[in-house]
Amino acid sequence: MTVKTIGVVGAGAMGGGIAHVAAMAGYNVVLRDIDMKFVDKAVANMDKFMARSVEKGKMTEEARKETLTRITKTTTLDDFKNVDFVIEAVLEKMELKKEVFQALNNICGPDTIFATNTSSMSVTEIAVASGRPDRMCGMHFFNPAQLMKLVEVIHGAHSSEETIKVTTELARSFGKTTVQVKKDSPGFIVNRLLFPYMIEAARLLQEGVASVEDIDTAIKLGLNYPMGPFEQYDMGGIELATSIMEYFAKEFDNSNYAPPMILKQRLRAGLIGRKTGEGFYKYDKK
Ligand code: NAD
Repeated sequence: MTVKTIGVVGAGAMGGGIAHVAAMAGYNVVLRDIDMKFVDKAVANMDKFMARSVEKGKMTEEARKETLTRITKTTTLDDFKNVDFVIEAVLEKMELKKEVFQALNNICGPDTIFATNTSSMSVTEIAVASGRPDRMCGMHFFNPAQLMKLVEVIHGAHSSEETIKVTTELARSFGKTTVQVKKDSPGFIVNRLLFPYMIEAARLLQEGVASVEDIDTAIKLGLNYPMGPFEQYDMGGIELATSIMEYFAKEFDNSNYAPPMILKQRLRAGLIGRKTGEGFYKYDKK
């Protein structure tokens, strides 16, 4: 099948970035959120990102304008009637994702492929609820989607070969490198490895073993990682991180994955990361 038009549900950090990547790769994109102000903000961010690329000589002014014309902004899923492929990037809540795909199953044509950008949750469970488990898989981008090169393609228990092939080719056409996650398992590859490390970093801080700055410096200079765990918490926000930890603890039936107290306390106090201006480091609110 040929993909020409892509529907992206959710215009937050990930949905906005994914819609942008798709539009820059030449696809028509329908971008939906529950309120137009979120969609407008996502498109304004794309424009800002491209303005910097034009300044640096990496993009022409014409390409910047053309990219924006490929994006249709909407608050209604009815505008997904003619899309060939859907990428869902709403909040990391199982019931919400199921609801979105159930609604889409009644709106989209029978050939439309569904992909979820869930960070951790069961693709098979969402796919079964969607009503088209063979035409659904996971397509996990990383933040910021415009810059991060990896896409994990997650095979649900019922994903057809054609679904995996079309999804993999689509990610490659976005300029991404793909890895195949052959079995649907919590956190797939990257987050399965990342979260035990992030949890231990929070415990080191909680136990007073070292400061935020020194833990980050140790990781950056000792392991040559581009950022430390607390910079990473601040970038993603601890809201999503703690929800992934809770999901892991439940799914693996292992309380070692549960969010450490320091994260739960900060979450309750609203100290969740760059978005609020108040994370482990202090940022200027934007
Ligand atoms: P976000 O909070 O920035 O954006 C989510 C958006 O979904 C919000 O704008 C919200 O209004 C919208 N939304 C809620 N219900 C909706 C509905 N019914 N229809 C359309 N839009 C709806 O969240 P995010 O960080 O972009 O994460 C989105 C998904 O991507 C989650 O599943 C998350 O786990 C996954 N993800 C996040 C990251 C990350 O680092 N932030 C990385 C990879 C994957």
